Amino acid sequence: MLSKTIAGATIGLHGVLITVEVDVAGRGFPTLTIVGLPNKSVDESKDRVRTALTNTGYEMPESRITVNMAPADIPKSGSAFDLAIAIGILAASGMIPQSALENKMILGELSLEGNVRKINGIVPLILLAQEEGIGEVYIPEENVEEASIFDDIHIFPVKNLQTLINHLLEKEKMATYTFIEKRHRADEFELLNDFAQIKGQEQSKRALEVAAAGFHNIHLKGTPGAGKTLLSRSMPTILPKLQKQEILEVAKIYSVVGELSDAIFHGVRPFRSPHHTTSRVGLIGGGSTPMPGEISMAHRGVLFLDEFPEFPRNVLEAMRQPLEDGVVTVSRAAGTLTFPARFLLLAASNPCPCGYLGHPKKPCKCAPGMIMRYKKRLSGPLLDRIDLHIDVPPVEVDELSDEYKSESSKDVRTRVLAARKIQEKRFKGKRTLFNSEIRSSDIKKYCVLTDDAQSMLKQAVERLSLSARSYFKTIKVARTIADLEGSKEIEAAHIAEALQYRAKEL
Ligand SMILES: [Zn+2]
Repeated sequence: MLSKTIAGATIGLHGVLITVEVDVAGRGFPTLTIVGLPNKSVDESKDRVRTALTNTGYEMPESRITVNMAPADIPKSGSAFDLAIAIGILAASGMIPQSALENKMILGELSLEGNVRKINGIVPLILLAQEEGIGEVYIPEENVEEASIFDDIHIFPVKNLQTLINHLLEKEKMATYTFIEKRHRADEFELLNDFAQIKGQEQSKRALEVAAAGFHNIHLKGTPGAGKTLLSRSMPTILPKLQKQEILEVAKIYSVVGELSDAIFHGVRPFRSPHHTTSRVGLIGGGSTPMPGEISMAHRGVLFLDEFPEFPRNVLEAMRQPLEDGVVTVSRAAGTLTFPARFLLLAASNPCPCGYLGHPKKPCKCAPGMIMRYKKRLSGPLLDRIDLHIDVPPVEVDELSDEYKSESSKDVRTRVLAARKIQEKRFKGKRTLFNSEIRSSDIKKYCVLTDDAQSMLKQAVERLSLSARSYFKTIKVARTIADLEGSKEIEAAHIAEALQYRAKEL
């Protein structure tokens, strides 16, 4: 007898339907053959399925059992099909009617005792089921949080093989998962690294506010201890929340990597801070089974690169294209794959290898050649993709007194949100979300300058010999500054502030 069970696999961030066909042919020496899976997975899957069935009280039929995973040309990692294979074997041996498997997608790894274990990639697989019009999806109970974003499909969290069998035989029906809006916990996230805890640094905080409002890449330069790291880590507290569409994009990535957390469903933007020793694949993405890297994990959020010039040159160069396009292309055995990677780059660097070049009190110990080489590590084209450059000065002791009052993240975020709303209206129906994404050809349309602003910009172009790229960057940053003030037109003061954030000599 032949049975067919629907399962799914992921390629990159996309789900692909997999049909698990099981054939049980005649009596005879019992064998179990699986085709359509990589070698190593086959053996492991066979053992798990066989043992899980036995421990659930079902003897494997004494027959030749052949399991085929179709289509064969799609690379599949083994464990996610265990549950579909086990159910398929029971159906092919007449213990579960084939009709009970119609319109259902079954996903999950089995433990030897027959419990259903967590798998990666649940979000793209549920999306796939929706697209294919499959009405019911059976997922591991441990993955159930990941189903929180779906409200128009029946999702059944499965604890173990036995409960699923009972359900399919209609002995004991399982309950559908109903998403209950959880207590809004955004406030908890706000408590971390509040702006109010950072004394002084008003200029740096202002630059972060502009970056957050228009999703502009930003580079902080300063001596060690100036507070670059603290400032950077407080960035998530002033960012606007992820919108529903963005949550889905981000959830897909984290689901495939197996790190989907509650914070994303609460709209907290990702904040990734990989160390400079992280491998190229770890940062950019790729591998034998291509996985998203840090730049994709930072999609719609912040990629914080501390000690920016310490990152290997080839890694930084590989980031240029994603910074431009918002996607990263990685190669795999059969062609290429793309992952989204539209992140806000937040880079921090010291002025020289020892860190104290230009410090008012401590001397720099670096030889001139070392400083030159250090500065050269960051290529012009990469710095060109950063809209805001600021110097973070060492904080004066006076500013650190207890009486010093600083604005809280909440206050700053209120302005950021207002600016975000203006952009939402501006780009309604477009793919652009933030001012930083305005194309040069659209500058005229979205950025109207007053006469004063025009002449100030014209002067700056001549005086500072601004490149075309710097010219457009200045206007885009000024657009965000004007939005923070709720000003329709870009005024001279907005241009003046934007010009302060220009790249000076590194
Ligand atoms: Zn130095």
